[in-house]
Amino acid sequence: MSENGVKPVVELKGLTRSFEQGGVRIDVLRGVDLTIRPGEIVALLGPSGSGKSTLLQAVGLLEGGFGGEIVIAGESAEKSDSHARTMLRRNHLGFVYQFHHLLPDFDARENVILPQLVADKPREEAEARAEQLLTALGLGHRMDHRPSQLSGGEQQRVAVARGLANRPKLVLADEPTGNLDEATSDRVLAEFLALVRGEGSAALIATHNERLAQKMDRIVRLHEGVLE
Ligand code: ADP
Ligand code: MG
Repeated sequence: MSENGVKPVVELKGLTRSFEQGGVRIDVLRGVDLTIRPGEIVALLGPSGSGKSTLLQAVGLLEGGFGGEIVIAGESAEKSDSHARTMLRRNHLGFVYQFHHLLPDFDARENVILPQLVADKPREEAEARAEQLLTALGLGHRMDHRPSQLSGGEQQRVAVARGLANRPKLVLADEPTGNLDEATSDRVLAEFLALVRGEGSAALIATHNERLAQKMDRIVRLHEGVLE
């Protein structure tokens, strides 16, 4: 519990990660401490290669090999077995990537429905939720389209809807508009942030773009493996 009695959505304590590259050990994360409270939108700012994606992978419980402690919604990931980690991820986290990673053979609606079925939501409820999110993102007329039939901005909007589908406490986004031109990036980011705020989710959003980071509630900077 924090001082005001609200449980943080995520706490990182002394997070470390090293890689071997050509026989040389590089310490990418050297003791990252971070607390994010419910509803807070945090920009993770740093140049290319500074470890933003590595940090998001750790928080997303997608990979092992990390030192230190990761606590999601009060539960320590290290103390959980792999099934419990999967449940933590499914119940509390949503993901948006730089490249949309949508399933090419499914339409927009189905791409937003599927993660909800995986989380055991009834089909009807999942469908209604998908349509609500896609409509909020201005894609009401594109729900039957496959990713290849959508523009880059529309594809990222579908990816945003999918990331929010299960009402995550924390959305992890890795350069979510990094693949779009500047005008589209600004628009999609604004819609993404408005939706996250409306839903009351927290978010940790990696970007190398200072101007985009300024639109969020708080900026943390990754520099030489620590946050400053
Ligand atoms: P960013 O997302 O800020 O651009 P990354 O987290 O992708 O940075 O990478 C940080 C550093 O870690 C880079 O030097 C990268 O080469 C290295 N790195 C990331 N993943 C691996 C891996 N699986 N194996 C070896 N090195 C890696
Ligand atoms: Mg990256």
